[in-house]
Amino acid sequence: MSRVVEEIADCSRCGLCAERRNPVPGEGDLSSPVVFIGEAPGRKEDEMGRPFVGSAGKMLDSLLSHVGLEREQVYVTNVVKCRPPGNRRPLKGEIRECTRYLNEQLMILTPRVLAPMGNSAAGHVLRRFQLERSSIGEIHGRRFDVDAPWGRVAVYPFYHPAAVLYNRKLEPELRKDFEGLLELLG
Ligand code: URA
Repeated sequence: MSRVVEEIADCSRCGLCAERRNPVPGEGDLSSPVVFIGEAPGRKEDEMGRPFVGSAGKMLDSLLSHVGLEREQVYVTNVVKCRPPGNRRPLKGEIRECTRYLNEQLMILTPRVLAPMGNSAAGHVLRRFQLERSSIGEIHGRRFDVDAPWGRVAVYPFYHPAAVLYNRKLEPELRKDFEGLLELLG
């Protein structure tokens, strides 16, 4: 993993490297059975070089602790490793250039469960495994079994934790989906 982290630190494949303060490769337990994937680092993540350390991260921690998990027990990363200016959504070309790193990370992590959070991450994962394109509202909390290069994987999408910060009504659903993840992990 340290080689991929170095590659990300040296990367200038897209324009995002110009304004980033720190790349945010991802972190957590390399032997975690589940990998959570967000969209892209925000301001705080860019400042710290760590994923989900702002308000969305606090929500993620609360959801994990709801099912008895600690952040250190799972691996958390993003589709795009550098902060898009003003927290805009990453562009198609940025995602295309950056997902080579996510792919390399997944080959090292070989998770049993892939948990994309939000439309961007779920869209990428659905495309990658040739699953039908759907919105996160339709597919959150559902399991899709796919064949990855490292073996059979359950894709289990979530709403993005930041979505709850804007719409509190989503919180019970997100909590319920996390309970489903626990069942999936056995
Ligand atoms: N939102 C994301 O999608 N990723 C982060 O790392 C932080 C906020």
